[in-house]
Amino acid sequence: MKTNAIFATALLGFSTLIGSAVRAEEQVLNLYSARHYQTDEALYKEFTHRTGIVIKRIEGKEDELLERLRNEGGNSPADVFLTVDAARLAAAHELALFAPVRSPILEARIPAHLRTSDWFAFSTRARVIVYAKDAVRPDEIRTYNDLAKPSLRGKMCSRSGSHPYNLSLMAAIIAHHGEAAAENWAKGVVANFARPPKGGDTDQILAVASGECAVALANTYYLARLMRSNKPEDRKAMEKITVVWPDQAGYGTHINVSGGGVLKTAPHKEAAIKFLEYLASDQAQRHFADGNNEWPAVVGVKIDNPALSSLGKFKADKLPVGSLAMYRTKAQMIFDRVGYR
Ligand code: FE
Repeated sequence: MKTNAIFATALLGFSTLIGSAVRAEEQVLNLYSARHYQTDEALYKEFTHRTGIVIKRIEGKEDELLERLRNEGGNSPADVFLTVDAARLAAAHELALFAPVRSPILEARIPAHLRTSDWFAFSTRARVIVYAKDAVRPDEIRTYNDLAKPSLRGKMCSRSGSHPYNLSLMAAIIAHHGEAAAENWAKGVVANFARPPKGGDTDQILAVASGECAVALANTYYLARLMRSNKPEDRKAMEKITVVWPDQAGYGTHINVSGGGVLKTAPHKEAAIKFLEYLASDQAQRHFADGNNEWPAVVGVKIDNPALSSLGKFKADKLPVGSLAMYRTKAQMIFDRVGYR
């Protein structure tokens, strides 16, 4: 017992020594993050704990951060840019902000369709259809295409067509079915609106639950959040709706990502790659799932999130995330033409 205590004290002294040595030449990583999830705090702390690299975080709205990176140019202190949505990551790529990264760890951990040469997805979310149990028959809605059917006239709620979540879904539809079919689809969807697009995904889910509309699109983490909410009215709303995995007999349900890359002008490139590799670790991957209700990008990571698990298994669209980017501008043009605002 006594020996143990002495040993522990010695060990404590030793690690304090190491601690101050690290502090003397403090390593830092400047992170620009558009992920504004409170639970991410713990994720960053753990990285510092593991590597001694202190994260200096600048948070901002997705498009503001992108603009800031653009303005700062070569003077930017940013090492890593993290954001949500493939279309935004693609925009950063198109602005040539990212540096190519070769990392055997990232290549082994992140599936090929979830990475590009310069940015990586670390978590996924699916864009699903929700409908009111008492307003729609289950066989009426199986695919994204079904949302354009005349039988749903005046029944659909949507957030803005300019929102990246809808633009990325549209990009996937163009990639799979071509521009003409995609435009027809968008026209049909607009014809089905119960009200002009407004609000976020949660607003659409609640509008379906309240009976204002019968169908809507939403990302899965918003559903999981409502399921895990401690407000009884949120859980009650979830009882009124059914979630559909669209296109299970076809390409699979459209998934979007959160992800990031190392900036071309990063002052701390090595630390930046270390950080991306850390985000692909089991622990960080579990954090995305348990803390923010997203699926890990890495295959086989065990998660502990009853809400996510209750959504069940589904077939995800394997379209490479990089190709969503290719059709982003076309998606916006089509939405503009058909009045999906
Ligand atoms: Fe979101």
